[in-house]
Amino acid sequence: MKKGRSILAGKKATNKHVSKPRQAVHEPLIVPASQHNVTRKDIGRSALKVLDKLHEAGHAAYLVGGGVRDALVGLKPKDFDIATDASPETLRALFRNSRIIGRRFRLVHVVFGREIIEVATFRAAHDKGKGGETGAAGRIVRDNVFGSIEEDAYRRDFSVNALYYNIADDSIVDYVGGLADLEAGVFKLIGDPLTRCSEDPVRVLRAVRLAAKLEFDIDPETLKAMGAKASELGKTPPPRLFEEVLKLFQGGYALRSFHSVREHNLMRFLFPLLDKRLKAGAPELVTMLDAALKNTDKRVATGKPITPAYLLAFMLWPDVEEYALHDSKLGMPINEAIMAAADSVLSTQLRVTSIPRRFSGPMKEIWQMQPRLERVKGGKALKLMEDRRFRAAYDFLCLRASIDDRLTASANWWTKVQTLPEDARAQAAANRPVVNDIWPSGISADNFSDDTGHAAAPDATSASKKKKRRRRRRKPSGDKGSTTPS
Ligand code: ATP
Ligand code: MG
Repeated sequence: MKKGRSILAGKKATNKHVSKPRQAVHEPLIVPASQHNVTRKDIGRSALKVLDKLHEAGHAAYLVGGGVRDALVGLKPKDFDIATDASPETLRALFRNSRIIGRRFRLVHVVFGREIIEVATFRAAHDKGKGGETGAAGRIVRDNVFGSIEEDAYRRDFSVNALYYNIADDSIVDYVGGLADLEAGVFKLIGDPLTRCSEDPVRVLRAVRLAAKLEFDIDPETLKAMGAKASELGKTPPPRLFEEVLKLFQGGYALRSFHSVREHNLMRFLFPLLDKRLKAGAPELVTMLDAALKNTDKRVATGKPITPAYLLAFMLWPDVEEYALHDSKLGMPINEAIMAAADSVLSTQLRVTSIPRRFSGPMKEIWQMQPRLERVKGGKALKLMEDRRFRAAYDFLCLRASIDDRLTASANWWTKVQTLPEDARAQAAANRPVVNDIWPSGISADNFSDDTGHAAAPDATSASKKKKRRRRRRKPSGDKGSTTPS
């Protein structure tokens, strides 16, 4: 990647363009337009509109954060964050299509159709006056003290994330040595790394994610502090961790992020059940996850839509499968066993990361489809193809089959049926061979033969009710014996 390459044609410090900091402590390094590679062309149309309008209205207007960082190393920025000296109220009045959001950080969202540009007023450190608040263990709970651009730079997380592109003259303003770190390919927390990790332990995860994305190193002092403070990640509110999970696995670098999170032993804070399995050594599970993550990255790279439901379904499937198999062996109909397993696994996961229902619903549907795809035949099989989750559930089955030979025949059968003309499908479905799949019980209690020749246990319904009651009391973190789906 861009690590270690020369980003700047040459640097000359000058301070004539920067908007006046209230109390300039350090002179910034200002790199004029002619000496760096970021231009207006790197900035999205909507963000440019906001920057220009702010400038025309006489305000300081800078692009900051990942947008500048990524453009400097030649990556296409994912989103554009803007920093200004205008207050949220001024911004609200200036942009008709805007709204003030947030409690912890008060920000303004300027809305352009489906695109949102985030505009933040320069802020000072949270302890610099009214509007900032730290809670237990030095955590920032409120961060609304407005300040100068310099103060704004110092409260950002990493030096390479604190570079400002000035729309007034296209220069880059650097208060914290971010350009040098960018050239060296290093993520370094600004200020005292231990304090900065305690203030917001999510920075530990951000370092790992962003370093994986840019293929950068993490500065040794930063790394040490991350190790010391990682356990505080466990106290992060589940909705915030879910946001981080989305960024990790939907940003186009899911495979690298996954391995980096594992190397830094942070999976335990994101997917504790999966973490246990991975730590027990599960090479075939890693192979399957790698394939799913690679596929996600490929879809992002080619602009195809992705849903977190699919990947999350993979992360949690080994436990869902194991729980469900256990109940299926006891005679519980498979669909009930899968629902009970899904509820149990999701309730463990939800204590760590939230998963909005719009994702957990489809996840359950993908799981529910698995035994059906494995065994139903005749008209019911063809009906499955009309299900809105068919495509995802079929892809899911194929990936499972890639590490489990017992599923190969099912996956191949579906692959073939989809290539057949409509009229040939019915015959193929009627003649589908009965496969010896992995589930001991029948699919549903009220469907004794479920079109497969697999009979549900006669007392399945009462057995399942007893089991459900027992499961709710079961400690989800308990030892569950063998781990990988085999
Ligand atoms: P990307 O968008 O590629 O994931 P990013 O660095 O732009 O990376 P955002 O979450 O978009 O990440 O944040 C924008 C900027 O806000 C960051 O570059 C950084 O300057 C600042 N920032 C974000 N999160 C924090 C944090 N937890 N602590 C301090 N500053 C932060
Ligand atoms: Mg960003």
